[in-house]
Amino acid sequence: MIKAKKSLGQNFLVDQKIIDTIVNIVKIKDESILEIGPGTGNLTVDILKKKPKKMIVIEKDNQLAQLLNKNLGTKIKIINDDVLKIDENKIENSSLTVFGNLPYNISTEILCKWILNIKNNNYWFNHLILMFQKEVANRIISDFNTKDYGRLSILANWRLNIKKICDVKPHSFFPRPKVDSSILLLEPKLEFFPIKNAKNLEKLTRTFFMHRRKMLKKPYNQLFNGNLKVADKLKINLNMRPQNLDFETYYKLTGEYENLRG
Ligand code: SAM
Repeated sequence: MIKAKKSLGQNFLVDQKIIDTIVNIVKIKDESILEIGPGTGNLTVDILKKKPKKMIVIEKDNQLAQLLNKNLGTKIKIINDDVLKIDENKIENSSLTVFGNLPYNISTEILCKWILNIKNNNYWFNHLILMFQKEVANRIISDFNTKDYGRLSILANWRLNIKKICDVKPHSFFPRPKVDSSILLLEPKLEFFPIKNAKNLEKLTRTFFMHRRKMLKKPYNQLFNGNLKVADKLKINLNMRPQNLDFETYYKLTGEYENLRG
């Protein structure tokens, strides 16, 4: 008998309708699939029914990895490791279609790591179909001038096209989480603003959104040493709040920041 481990964010999907929705979002047949946190394999078996070319799973829990090996070992490759420690660019030569009912406690960390690790235009995935806590999904898909807009949406929208598929209620899982969830489809953006080092975008947005109710003036001066040329060039009113600047402006600001640093 498997006892769900809270520390590993184990809420297993038990709603067949939701599983059916997930496996019909993109084509699986003949694709190379990666599933993050397959758990007891509830989603895994339905992905396999669609006849992928290959299926790889990453599961941190030793007990669950053993169970998967016993039940599905001949059909899937099991990596019994921490997804945060794996270099995703080395998993497969071809692009992967990724599924994951992600452990909520590390879902943003996983997504940010994946985005920061995209090498130029070489995306290691072609689709990400991911379940997030609804509140986190709202932050990922939010637009500027809204309360959820911030670091996560700016980073995600830089390299990804994002679409919300549906919300999922707690009764679709066992054990039931306390919060609602949402499924997102995220796909590579082929045209994006050139930033030399994505860590600079992270640094800028962290500084600007540190105090989201305060004016842009202070964090701007901190980052640009009081030099107003960039703000003038990008026509930024420094009396506005961080959520009032659109995506492109944050990317351009990062580009200017990188130019000044050489
Ligand atoms: N996919 C299964 C399902 O839908 O029924 C389980 C989803 S459950 C929300 C999250 C899964 O991720 C668990 O199986 C858990 O053990 C695994 N997990 C947690 N942290 C992980 C990590 N750092 N690396 C890989 N797997 C992890």
